[in-house]
Amino acid sequence: ETFALKPMNCPGHCLMFGSRDRSYKELPLRLADFGVIHRNEASGALSGLTRVRRFVQDDAHIFCRASQIEDEMMHCFDFLQTVYGLFGFTFKMELSTRPEKHLGDVATWDAAEKRLASALDRFVPGQWELNPGDGAFYGPKIDITISDAMRRQHQCATIQLDFQLPQRFNLEYKTPQGGADGENQTERPVMIHRAVVGSLERFIAILIENFAGKWPFWLSPRQVLVVPVTQSVYEYAQDVRSTLWDHGFYADVDLSDNTLNKKIRNGELAQYNFVFVVGHEEKESRSVNVRNRDTDPKVAKGKTDTIPLDVVLSQLQQLVCLAVCSGQTPRFLTHTPLTALLTLGRVGIQANSVSQVQPARPSGPGGPEQNSGKGTTGHRGFQPEKQHPKDPVTLSINVIHNIIIMKNEKFIIISMNAQKN
Ligand code: ZN
Repeated sequence: ETFALKPMNCPGHCLMFGSRDRSYKELPLRLADFGVIHRNEASGALSGLTRVRRFVQDDAHIFCRASQIEDEMMHCFDFLQTVYGLFGFTFKMELSTRPEKHLGDVATWDAAEKRLASALDRFVPGQWELNPGDGAFYGPKIDITISDAMRRQHQCATIQLDFQLPQRFNLEYKTPQGGADGENQTERPVMIHRAVVGSLERFIAILIENFAGKWPFWLSPRQVLVVPVTQSVYEYAQDVRSTLWDHGFYADVDLSDNTLNKKIRNGELAQYNFVFVVGHEEKESRSVNVRNRDTDPKVAKGKTDTIPLDVVLSQLQQLVCLAVCSGQTPRFLTHTPLTALLTLGRVGIQANSVSQVQPARPSGPGGPEQNSGKGTTGHRGFQPEKQHPKDPVTLSINVIHNIIIMKNEKFIIISMNAQKN
């Protein structure tokens, strides 16, 4: 047997489509894949998280009939809006049309371009641009450019139509119309390549720069730091931390022998969203003294509130809910209980690429239990971790990854992660 590194998912998905007879009733067939892919980038081209040799894309391929293109586009746009909206990104869209050097007949191109234009007109009337002649040789595409907090532009998402690959793999499906001899007629499906965040690694890099270390609470890998005032309340501090942990929050406790001020300062520098200081008074009343990273600057610095622990817990949960479930309420989250979301945030899907920046921690006894994800279909393969991963990038990647998986409810998920543990 010969093994090879997978450079892309497209041909594999074509093989899956072509593995048996297909009927029009199965279309649109949507396959999503989070498997690891590889590019042999020149070593000089490698750069941080933005250009790596081994990465994960939120990749998907939709096989559909020509008449279904417009509806599928609308789903893709809705997906884009949900995901980018969550991170506070705005985006603009461009339609790239038939280049001079192209494959396939002009009539097919024209019809497809018309469908894409019509979908764009429905989604962002008058607010998209035309990029004549800039399509791929195999089909027209929609380029999506996001703007971050510093108004820098990034291209993450792509939606491309492809007439060629289905032809190269000789893909076809039976149409509802019978032929003259009573046999079903067949047609060739259109293939849509779709990625929303693109490479998860690169997207994380964009987010890191965008938030400049100040991660929003719901996505933060450093949500709370518990700081005990004296050694005699260490136990209570650990108790507070594990209570937070049990409620799905990422909390740490500082039991070092630094001074109180130094511990608080360290917590602030590490951009914990909250520092909870606990002393005897807090222990007696089972409360915490809260310092908020994002306090309004007009409020005197150092001003804090002592709040009962159970009240704090529900406030933190509300904070997540406000961020994730309000505004343009992502539909896929409205019916997801908060606890489920928080649990999903802990799901043991390892972010593959992170190991390129920081070697994966050896998971000794009690280490993170990882989901091999091999051939997982649907959402049932999730195994909650016994422990949180400690690597902050992994934490945030997990949350993003899971949000996208949840949003992929209409898709058959081929692979969450092909990495061997
Ligand atoms: Zn593709």
